Amino acid sequence: MKKITVLGVTGSIGLQCVDVCLHHPEFVIEAMSAGKNISKVEEILTLLPVKHICVIKKEDCDYLKEKYPDRNFYFGNEGLEYIAKLPDVDIVLNAIVGFAGLLPTIEAIKAKKDIALANKETLVVAGHIICDLAKQNNVRLLPVDSEHSAIFQSMNGESKKDVRKIILTCSGGSFRDKSREELIGVSVEQALNHPNWSMGAKITIDSATLFNKGLEVIEAKWLFDLNYDQIEVLIHPESIIHSMVEFVDTSIIAQLGNPDMRLPIQYAFTYPTRKKLINATSLDLAKVATMNFRKPDLVRFKALDLAYQAGRTGGSMPCVLNAANEVANDLFQKNKIEFLMIEELVEKAMKNHQSIENPSLEQLIQVDKETREFVFNQIL
Ligand code: NDP
Repeated sequence: MKKITVLGVTGSIGLQCVDVCLHHPEFVIEAMSAGKNISKVEEILTLLPVKHICVIKKEDCDYLKEKYPDRNFYFGNEGLEYIAKLPDVDIVLNAIVGFAGLLPTIEAIKAKKDIALANKETLVVAGHIICDLAKQNNVRLLPVDSEHSAIFQSMNGESKKDVRKIILTCSGGSFRDKSREELIGVSVEQALNHPNWSMGAKITIDSATLFNKGLEVIEAKWLFDLNYDQIEVLIHPESIIHSMVEFVDTSIIAQLGNPDMRLPIQYAFTYPTRKKLINATSLDLAKVATMNFRKPDLVRFKALDLAYQAGRTGGSMPCVLNAANEVANDLFQKNKIEFLMIEELVEKAMKNHQSIENPSLEQLIQVDKETREFVFNQIL
């Protein structure tokens, strides 16, 4: 049996984790956190006997406490950090979206919990701190992002020194075939219409800009200890090959499958073994018949270029990229800015920032705050 804390249980990844656990009673959700979606929390409570639950607001916590007196409820950052380090728990799945996922990851690592990491922003912002802490505490960082899980699976039994490069595949998002001119005036609804995956709103918009792939490049650098020249991106519209590794002898090993996030979630729990994925269909390659690949044009997909720049600059620059993107992505979702302004605002924030080398956690929290203010001020 494996006891799990799921942070961000009401989101796209969180609910797919619930589905995995419903089919595999040996994975027990001991604790979970949600944001504001209290009706979803209640639905999950009817399905699973989760003992510890954290929400953002005290009012929601009080309401739940009264209605479910046999469970334990907490709220706010303190509550989140508490359930991230419960003594009984073996593994913490972090499926919170954005910078908010950083501090609970740190608490969970300090408490020596293995981390199933969906929250890529954690490594983008503070990869150096997270990787050092994980090493010190002998904790495993198990990737849940499908691309990173594919790389992780392709490297199984291989030696890191034999890796020449990795190739992150990329669907290209909702606007893959549009020119920059055609992106003028695109709507939020169009951006949310991802061709292959059903995901939360922030990551779907990030897939349309390609900031998602950019964040994944930085995430891969930390997870697999690579330099940026060893990380390539390839547009693969069918999303069948989830990513690949090229070794020094030119052999390429890839992981393939139908797009289904339950697989990488489940693999993070079963690693290094495997279990049947319930209600999943085998990949029918004859039906797929053709797979296409092309290099992304970094002028067209400026977000990817900005992410490589931020990653190569290092220090606090990826934190600026992430914070500016979180704010700009949200402003676009609220129809406050045009789609192409997301990149513009991120670029402005990066130009405005003098990167701090080897930043501390406190410095990163400050940089995140200042960048958010800077971006808001641009649109006043
Ligand atoms: P969703 O937006 O669907 O879910 C986010 C979850 O985080 C919800 O439970 C939400 O609560 C909670 N949340 C939001 N803000 C806060 C906050 N400030 N404090 C605490 N909890 C909060 O996101 P996804 O599931 O799509 O993505 C989650 C993470 O996984 C992201 O980092 C994403 O990049 C990554 N990822 C997602 C994939 C996918 O297929 N969806 C694929 C690969 C990676 P509530 O809804 O109750 O308010």
